[in-house]
Amino acid sequence: VFRPAARLASIEVSEILRITAEASARKRAGRPVIVLGAGEPDFDTPEPVKTAAARAMREGRTKYTILDGAPELKAAVREKFRRDNGLDYALDEITCGTGAKQVLYNAFMASLDPGDEVVIPAPFWTSYADIVAICGGVPIIVPCAETDGFRLTPQALERAIGPRTRWLLLNSPSNPTGSAYTADDLVGLAEVLDRHPHVWLMSDDMYEHILYDGRRFATPASAAPQLRLRTLTVNGVSKAYAMTGWRIGYGAGPKALIQAMATVQSQSTSCPSSISQAAALEALVGDQASISDRRVAFQRRRDLVVEALNAMPGLSCRRPEGAFYTFANCAGLLGRTTPDGTVLEDDRAFCRHLLESADVAVVPGSCFGLAGFFRISYATSEAELTEACGRIRTACAALA
Ligand code: PLP
Repeated sequence: VFRPAARLASIEVSEILRITAEASARKRAGRPVIVLGAGEPDFDTPEPVKTAAARAMREGRTKYTILDGAPELKAAVREKFRRDNGLDYALDEITCGTGAKQVLYNAFMASLDPGDEVVIPAPFWTSYADIVAICGGVPIIVPCAETDGFRLTPQALERAIGPRTRWLLLNSPSNPTGSAYTADDLVGLAEVLDRHPHVWLMSDDMYEHILYDGRRFATPASAAPQLRLRTLTVNGVSKAYAMTGWRIGYGAGPKALIQAMATVQSQSTSCPSSISQAAALEALVGDQASISDRRVAFQRRRDLVVEALNAMPGLSCRRPEGAFYTFANCAGLLGRTTPDGTVLEDDRAFCRHLLESADVAVVPGSCFGLAGFFRISYATSEAELTEACGRIRTACAALA
Protein backbone atom coordinates (compact mmCIF):
# COMPACT_ATOMS: atom_id res chain seq x y z
CA VAL A 1 0.00 0.00 0.00
CA PHE A 2 1.36 3.40 -0.94
CA ARG A 3 2.12 5.61 2.05
CA PRO A 4 2.42 9.32 1.14
CA ALA A 5 5.06 11.44 2.83
CA ALA A 6 4.02 13.28 5.98
CA ARG A 7 4.75 16.60 4.26
CA LEU A 8 1.74 16.02 2.02
CA ALA A 9 -0.64 15.57 4.96
CA SER A 10 -2.07 19.08 4.84
CA ILE A 11 -1.99 19.44 1.04
CA GLU A 12 -5.15 18.90 -0.94
CA VAL A 13 -5.56 18.46 -4.67
CA SER A 14 -6.52 21.92 -5.90
CA GLU A 15 -10.28 22.37 -5.61
CA ILE A 16 -10.17 24.68 -8.62
CA LEU A 17 -8.85 21.80 -10.71
CA ARG A 18 -11.53 19.52 -9.25
CA ILE A 19 -14.30 21.98 -10.17
CA THR A 20 -12.83 22.45 -13.65
CA ALA A 21 -12.65 18.66 -14.11
CA GLU A 22 -16.26 18.27 -12.99
CA ALA A 23 -17.38 21.04 -15.34
CA SER A 24 -15.51 19.39 -18.23
CA ALA A 25 -17.12 16.03 -17.44
CA ARG A 26 -20.59 17.66 -17.54
CA LYS A 27 -19.65 19.28 -20.84
CA ARG A 28 -18.57 15.95 -22.30
CA ALA A 29 -21.91 14.54 -21.17
CA GLY A 30 -23.58 17.13 -23.42
CA ARG A 31 -24.41 19.94 -20.94
CA PRO A 32 -23.85 23.52 -22.23
CA VAL A 33 -21.42 24.37 -19.41
CA ILE A 34 -19.70 27.76 -19.26
CA VAL A 35 -16.48 27.49 -17.28
CA LEU A 36 -15.50 30.68 -15.48
CA GLY A 37 -13.05 28.83 -13.27
CA ALA A 38 -9.67 28.79 -14.94
CA GLY A 39 -7.09 31.53 -14.44
CA GLU A 40 -5.98 31.60 -18.03
CA PRO A 41 -6.33 34.27 -20.75
CA ASP A 42 -8.45 33.07 -23.67
CA PHE A 43 -6.31 35.03 -26.16
CA ASP A 44 -3.71 33.27 -28.28
CA THR A 45 0.04 33.69 -27.77
CA PRO A 46 1.23 36.56 -30.03
CA GLU A 47 2.44 35.39 -33.46
CA PRO A 48 6.00 36.87 -33.18
CA VAL A 49 6.47 34.87 -29.99
CA LYS A 50 5.56 31.64 -31.77
CA THR A 51 7.86 32.58 -34.65
CA ALA A 52 10.75 33.13 -32.22
CA ALA A 53 10.18 29.66 -30.76
CA ALA A 54 10.11 28.07 -34.23
CA ARG A 55 13.32 29.90 -35.14
CA ALA A 56 15.02 28.64 -31.96
CA MET A 57 14.13 25.09 -32.90
CA ARG A 58 15.35 25.48 -36.50
CA GLU A 59 18.63 27.02 -35.31
CA GLY A 60 19.27 24.10 -32.97
CA ARG A 61 18.74 25.97 -29.72
CA THR A 62 17.30 22.76 -28.34
CA LYS A 63 19.82 21.90 -25.65
CA TYR A 64 20.21 22.55 -21.93
CA THR A 65 20.81 26.20 -21.14
CA ILE A 66 22.44 27.65 -18.06
CA LEU A 67 20.49 26.37 -15.09
CA ASP A 68 18.35 29.34 -14.11
CA GLY A 69 18.05 30.91 -17.54
CA ALA A 70 20.15 31.62 -20.63
CA PRO A 71 22.10 34.90 -20.36
CA GLU A 72 20.05 36.37 -23.27
CA LEU A 73 16.78 35.74 -21.43
CA LYS A 74 18.20 37.12 -18.18
CA ALA A 75 19.28 40.24 -20.08
CA ALA A 76 15.71 40.60 -21.40
CA VAL A 77 14.33 40.25 -17.88
CA ARG A 78 16.80 42.85 -16.67
CA GLU A 79 15.62 45.22 -19.40
CA LYS A 80 11.99 44.53 -18.49
CA PHE A 81 12.58 45.45 -14.84
CA ARG A 82 14.34 48.66 -15.92
CA ARG A 83 11.69 49.62 -18.45
CA ASP A 84 8.54 48.77 -16.50
CA ASN A 85 9.55 49.05 -12.84
CA GLY A 86 12.57 51.34 -12.66
CA LEU A 87 14.51 48.50 -11.04
CA ASP A 88 18.14 47.76 -11.90
CA TYR A 89 19.29 44.19 -11.34
CA ALA A 90 22.56 42.50 -12.27
CA LEU A 91 22.28 39.24 -14.21
CA ASP A 92 23.26 37.24 -11.11
CA GLU A 93 20.32 38.77 -9.26
CA ILE A 94 17.89 37.30 -11.82
CA THR A 95 16.48 33.78 -12.03
CA CYS A 96 14.23 32.06 -14.59
CA GLY A 97 12.14 28.98 -13.93
CA THR A 98 9.40 26.78 -15.29
CA GLY A 99 6.62 29.26 -14.55
CA ALA A 100 6.37 31.79 -11.75
CA LYS A 101 5.10 28.90 -9.69
CA GLN A 102 8.49 27.21 -9.77
CA VAL A 103 10.19 30.50 -8.89
CA LEU A 104 7.97 30.83 -5.81
CA TYR A 105 8.57 27.19 -4.95
CA ASN A 106 12.35 27.53 -5.31
CA ALA A 107 12.36 30.58 -3.06
CA PHE A 108 10.45 28.89 -0.24
CA MET A 109 12.39 25.64 -0.62
CA ALA A 110 15.63 27.61 -0.46
CA SER A 111 14.71 29.66 2.60
CA LEU A 112 12.26 27.90 4.93
CA ASP A 113 13.26 25.71 7.85
CA PRO A 114 10.58 23.64 9.57
CA GLY A 115 8.31 25.94 11.56
CA ASP A 116 9.31 29.14 9.75
CA GLU A 117 6.31 31.35 9.08
CA VAL A 118 5.05 33.09 5.95
CA VAL A 119 2.42 35.83 6.26
CA ILE A 120 -0.20 35.42 3.54
CA PRO A 121 -3.05 37.95 3.27
CA ALA A 122 -6.40 36.29 2.49
CA PRO A 123 -8.08 35.83 0.12
CA PHE A 124 -5.01 34.37 -1.58
CA TRP A 125 -4.04 32.22 -4.56
CA THR A 126 -4.51 28.68 -3.21
CA SER A 127 -1.04 27.46 -4.14
CA TYR A 128 0.72 29.87 -1.76
CA ALA A 129 -0.29 28.09 1.43
CA ASP A 130 0.31 24.64 -0.05
CA ILE A 131 3.77 25.49 -1.39
CA VAL A 132 4.76 26.95 1.99
CA ALA A 133 3.48 23.81 3.74
CA ILE A 134 5.28 21.43 1.34
CA CYS A 135 8.49 23.33 2.05
CA GLY A 136 8.01 22.80 5.80
CA GLY A 137 6.82 26.32 6.56
CA VAL A 138 3.72 27.51 8.37
CA PRO A 139 1.32 29.78 6.45
CA ILE A 140 0.02 32.57 8.67
CA ILE A 141 -3.24 33.54 7.00
CA VAL A 142 -4.37 37.11 7.65
CA PRO A 143 -7.97 37.84 6.63
CA CYS A 144 -8.42 41.11 4.73
CA ALA A 145 -11.84 42.76 4.78
CA GLU A 146 -13.87 43.57 1.69
CA THR A 147 -14.26 47.08 3.16
CA ASP A 148 -10.45 47.45 2.99
CA GLY A 149 -10.59 46.40 -0.65
CA PHE A 150 -9.25 42.97 0.43
CA ARG A 151 -5.92 44.68 1.10
CA LEU A 152 -3.62 43.98 4.03
CA THR A 153 -3.46 46.90 6.45
CA PRO A 154 -0.23 47.89 8.25
CA GLN A 155 -1.94 47.16 11.60
CA ALA A 156 -2.88 43.63 10.57
CA LEU A 157 0.65 43.05 9.25
CA GLU A 158 2.15 44.25 12.53
CA ARG A 159 -0.02 41.80 14.48
CA ALA A 160 0.88 38.87 12.21
CA ILE A 161 4.66 39.20 12.51
CA GLY A 162 6.47 37.07 15.09
CA PRO A 163 10.02 35.90 15.74
CA ARG A 164 9.66 32.99 13.24
CA THR A 165 8.29 35.12 10.39
CA ARG A 166 10.53 34.77 7.31
CA TRP A 167 8.39 36.27 4.56
CA LEU A 168 5.44 38.48 3.78
CA LEU A 169 3.87 37.39 0.49
CA LEU A 170 2.02 40.05 -1.49
CA ASN A 171 0.15 39.64 -4.77
CA SER A 172 -1.03 42.73 -6.61
CA PRO A 173 -3.20 42.84 -8.67
CA SER A 174 -4.57 39.86 -6.81
CA ASN A 175 -5.81 36.49 -7.76
CA PRO A 176 -8.65 36.03 -6.67
CA THR A 177 -9.91 39.55 -5.84
CA GLY A 178 -8.37 41.75 -8.55
CA SER A 179 -7.41 44.24 -5.81
CA ALA A 180 -4.22 46.19 -6.28
CA TYR A 181 -1.95 48.08 -3.88
CA THR A 182 -0.96 51.66 -4.67
CA ALA A 183 2.60 52.86 -4.09
CA ASP A 184 1.32 54.61 -0.94
CA ASP A 185 -0.22 51.37 0.36
CA LEU A 186 3.14 49.65 -0.14
CA VAL A 187 5.00 52.43 1.67
CA GLY A 188 2.63 51.93 4.64
CA LEU A 189 3.39 48.20 4.75
CA ALA A 190 7.12 48.88 4.28
CA GLU A 191 7.10 51.08 7.40
CA VAL A 192 6.03 48.02 9.38
CA LEU A 193 8.71 45.86 7.75
CA ASP A 194 11.30 48.54 8.58
CA ARG A 195 10.69 47.67 12.24
CA HIS A 196 11.16 43.93 11.56
CA PRO A 197 14.38 43.48 9.60
CA HIS A 198 14.20 39.67 9.83
CA VAL A 199 11.12 39.61 7.56
CA TRP A 200 11.67 39.40 3.79
CA LEU A 201 9.12 40.34 1.17
CA MET A 202 7.99 38.27 -1.78
CA SER A 203 6.02 40.22 -4.36
CA ASP A 204 4.04 38.22 -6.93
CA ASP A 205 3.54 40.66 -9.81
CA MET A 206 2.00 38.16 -12.26
CA TYR A 207 -0.92 40.46 -13.14
CA GLU A 208 1.16 43.64 -13.42
CA HIS A 209 -0.04 44.46 -16.92
CA ILE A 210 -3.72 43.77 -16.30
CA LEU A 211 -4.51 46.98 -14.40
CA TYR A 212 -7.44 49.24 -15.26
CA ASP A 213 -8.75 52.79 -15.31
CA GLY A 214 -5.30 54.26 -16.03
CA ARG A 215 -3.82 53.08 -12.72
CA ARG A 216 -0.04 52.90 -12.40
CA PHE A 217 1.40 49.60 -11.29
CA ALA A 218 3.44 49.68 -8.07
CA THR A 219 5.90 47.05 -6.87
CA PRO A 220 7.46 47.07 -3.39
CA ALA A 221 11.15 47.08 -4.42
CA SER A 222 10.67 50.36 -6.25
CA ALA A 223 7.93 51.93 -4.06
CA ALA A 224 9.99 51.27 -0.92
CA PRO A 225 13.60 50.96 -2.18
CA GLN A 226 14.98 50.32 1.31
CA LEU A 227 13.34 46.87 1.03
CA ARG A 228 15.18 45.95 -2.16
CA LEU A 229 17.89 44.03 -0.29
CA ARG A 230 15.27 41.69 1.18
CA THR A 231 12.70 41.55 -1.61
CA LEU A 232 12.15 38.89 -4.24
CA THR A 233 10.05 40.21 -7.11
CA VAL A 234 8.36 37.41 -9.05
CA ASN A 235 6.75 37.74 -12.46
CA GLY A 236 6.24 35.74 -15.63
CA VAL A 237 4.92 35.67 -19.16
CA SER A 238 1.87 33.44 -18.57
CA LYS A 239 -0.78 36.10 -17.99
CA ALA A 240 0.74 39.15 -19.68
CA TYR A 241 1.34 37.44 -23.04
CA ALA A 242 -1.20 34.58 -22.92
CA MET A 243 1.64 32.06 -22.54
CA THR A 244 0.43 29.79 -19.73
CA GLY A 245 1.53 26.62 -21.55
CA TRP A 246 5.06 27.79 -22.31
CA ARG A 247 5.96 27.70 -18.60
CA ILE A 248 8.36 30.58 -18.11
CA GLY A 249 8.52 32.71 -14.98
CA TYR A 250 11.27 34.82 -13.52
CA GLY A 251 12.32 36.64 -10.39
CA ALA A 252 14.84 39.18 -9.16
CA GLY A 253 16.34 39.64 -5.73
CA PRO A 254 19.52 39.47 -3.65
CA LYS A 255 22.26 37.33 -5.19
CA ALA A 256 22.60 34.93 -2.23
CA LEU A 257 18.89 34.07 -2.43
CA ILE A 258 19.00 33.72 -6.22
CA GLN A 259 21.96 31.31 -5.92
CA ALA A 260 20.18 29.19 -3.31
CA MET A 261 17.13 29.05 -5.58
CA ALA A 262 19.33 27.84 -8.46
CA THR A 263 20.60 25.05 -6.21
CA VAL A 264 17.01 23.92 -5.60
CA GLN A 265 16.15 24.09 -9.30
CA SER A 266 19.34 22.22 -10.23
CA GLN A 267 17.99 19.17 -8.40
CA SER A 268 14.48 19.29 -9.83
CA THR A 269 13.93 20.50 -13.39
CA SER A 270 17.38 21.90 -14.30
CA CYS A 271 16.75 24.67 -16.81
CA PRO A 272 13.37 25.71 -18.25
CA SER A 273 12.70 24.60 -21.85
CA SER A 274 15.20 26.29 -24.17
CA ILE A 275 12.47 26.83 -26.79
CA SER A 276 10.15 28.46 -24.29
CA GLN A 277 13.02 30.67 -23.15
CA ALA A 278 13.45 31.93 -26.73
CA ALA A 279 9.71 32.61 -26.89
CA ALA A 280 9.69 34.46 -23.56
CA LEU A 281 12.63 36.59 -24.66
CA GLU A 282 10.68 37.75 -27.71
CA ALA A 283 7.60 38.43 -25.55
CA LEU A 284 9.62 40.62 -23.18
CA VAL A 285 11.63 42.64 -25.71
CA GLY A 286 9.32 42.59 -28.75
CA ASP A 287 6.35 44.81 -29.56
CA GLN A 288 4.31 45.33 -26.38
CA ALA A 289 1.13 46.44 -28.16
CA SER A 290 -0.76 43.22 -27.38
CA ILE A 291 -0.61 44.10 -23.68
CA SER A 292 -2.65 47.28 -23.98
CA ASP A 293 -5.07 45.75 -26.53
CA ARG A 294 -5.86 42.97 -24.09
CA ARG A 295 -6.10 45.32 -21.16
CA VAL A 296 -8.84 47.24 -22.99
CA ALA A 297 -10.71 44.00 -23.73
CA PHE A 298 -10.37 42.78 -20.13
CA GLN A 299 -11.59 46.10 -18.74
CA ARG A 300 -14.76 45.91 -20.86
CA ARG A 301 -15.38 42.40 -19.61
CA ARG A 302 -14.81 43.45 -16.01
CA ASP A 303 -17.38 46.21 -16.35
CA LEU A 304 -19.87 43.85 -17.96
CA VAL A 305 -19.56 41.27 -15.16
CA VAL A 306 -19.46 43.73 -12.24
CA GLU A 307 -22.51 45.60 -13.47
CA ALA A 308 -24.46 42.40 -14.08
CA LEU A 309 -23.61 40.98 -10.64
CA ASN A 310 -24.49 44.19 -8.82
CA ALA A 311 -27.90 44.22 -10.52
CA MET A 312 -28.75 40.83 -9.01
CA PRO A 313 -30.59 40.94 -5.66
CA GLY A 314 -28.53 39.21 -2.96
CA LEU A 315 -25.17 39.59 -4.72
CA SER A 316 -22.66 42.41 -4.61
CA CYS A 317 -19.27 42.88 -6.17
CA ARG A 318 -16.58 45.54 -5.74
CA ARG A 319 -15.02 46.80 -8.95
CA PRO A 320 -11.56 45.21 -9.10
CA GLU A 321 -8.55 47.31 -10.05
CA GLY A 322 -6.88 44.58 -12.08
CA ALA A 323 -6.28 40.90 -12.99
CA PHE A 324 -9.17 39.07 -14.68
CA TYR A 325 -11.22 38.02 -11.67
CA THR A 326 -14.22 39.34 -9.78
CA PHE A 327 -14.71 38.27 -6.18
CA ALA A 328 -18.42 38.70 -5.47
CA ASN A 329 -20.20 38.55 -2.13
CA CYS A 330 -22.95 35.90 -2.00
CA ALA A 331 -23.59 36.02 1.77
CA GLY A 332 -27.01 37.56 1.06
CA LEU A 333 -28.17 34.34 -0.61
CA LEU A 334 -26.87 31.86 1.95
CA GLY A 335 -29.60 30.14 3.94
CA ARG A 336 -31.95 30.30 0.93
CA THR A 337 -33.44 27.14 -0.64
CA THR A 338 -33.03 25.79 -4.18
CA PRO A 339 -36.07 24.55 -6.17
CA ASP A 340 -35.12 20.95 -5.30
CA GLY A 341 -35.18 21.76 -1.59
CA THR A 342 -31.45 22.10 -0.83
CA VAL A 343 -30.57 24.82 1.66
CA LEU A 344 -27.53 26.82 0.54
CA GLU A 345 -25.42 26.49 3.68
CA ASP A 346 -22.26 28.12 2.36
CA ASP A 347 -20.43 29.46 -0.70
CA ARG A 348 -19.54 25.92 -1.81
CA ALA A 349 -23.25 25.00 -1.92
CA PHE A 350 -23.99 28.24 -3.80
CA CYS A 351 -21.38 27.41 -6.45
CA ARG A 352 -22.71 23.86 -6.70
CA HIS A 353 -26.18 25.31 -7.31
CA LEU A 354 -24.82 27.48 -10.14
CA LEU A 355 -23.13 24.46 -11.72
CA GLU A 356 -26.08 22.12 -11.38
CA SER A 357 -28.95 24.45 -12.20
CA ALA A 358 -27.27 27.01 -14.48
CA ASP A 359 -24.34 25.09 -15.97
CA VAL A 360 -21.96 27.84 -14.90
CA ALA A 361 -18.73 26.84 -13.16
CA VAL A 362 -17.29 29.36 -10.68
CA VAL A 363 -15.01 28.88 -7.65
CA PRO A 364 -16.10 29.30 -3.99
CA GLY A 365 -14.32 31.99 -1.97
CA SER A 366 -13.46 29.41 0.69
CA CYS A 367 -10.95 27.92 -1.79
CA PHE A 368 -9.06 31.21 -1.41
CA GLY A 369 -9.40 31.51 2.36
CA LEU A 370 -12.52 33.72 2.53
CA ALA A 371 -15.98 32.15 2.78
CA GLY A 372 -19.17 33.90 1.64
CA PHE A 373 -17.79 34.88 -1.78
CA PHE A 374 -17.23 33.35 -5.20
CA ARG A 375 -14.67 34.04 -7.91
CA ILE A 376 -15.47 34.54 -11.56
CA SER A 377 -12.61 34.40 -14.05
CA TYR A 378 -13.75 36.65 -16.89
CA ALA A 379 -11.01 35.60 -19.30
CA THR A 380 -13.60 34.59 -21.87
CA SER A 381 -15.69 36.27 -24.59
CA GLU A 382 -18.24 38.98 -23.85
CA ALA A 383 -20.92 36.82 -25.48
CA GLU A 384 -20.18 33.95 -23.13
CA LEU A 385 -20.00 36.28 -20.11
CA THR A 386 -23.37 37.82 -20.98
CA GLU A 387 -24.93 34.39 -21.30
CA ALA A 388 -23.32 33.23 -18.01
CA CYS A 389 -24.53 36.30 -16.10
CA GLY A 390 -28.06 35.76 -17.43
CA ARG A 391 -28.00 32.19 -16.19
CA ILE A 392 -26.62 33.20 -12.78
CA ARG A 393 -29.44 35.75 -12.49
CA THR A 394 -32.03 33.07 -13.26
CA ALA A 395 -30.44 30.61 -10.79
CA CYS A 396 -30.45 33.24 -8.03
CA ALA A 397 -34.01 34.30 -8.77
CA ALA A 398 -35.14 30.67 -8.41
CA LEU A 399 -34.05 30.58 -4.75
CA ALA A 400 -36.80 30.60 -2.14
N1 PLP B 1 0.88 33.76 -9.27
C1 PLP B 1 -0.45 33.95 -9.35
C2 PLP B 1 -1.10 34.96 -8.48
C3 PLP B 1 -1.21 33.18 -10.24
O1 PLP B 1 -2.55 33.37 -10.32
C4 PLP B 1 -0.57 32.21 -11.04
C5 PLP B 1 -1.34 31.34 -11.95
O2 PLP B 1 -2.52 31.17 -11.85
C6 PLP B 1 0.81 32.07 -10.91
C7 PLP B 1 1.51 32.86 -10.02
C8 PLP B 1 1.59 31.03 -11.70
O3 PLP B 1 1.92 31.43 -12.95
P1 PLP B 1 2.87 30.58 -13.88
O4 PLP B 1 2.01 30.11 -15.02
O5 PLP B 1 3.94 31.51 -14.33
O6 PLP B 1 3.43 29.45 -13.08
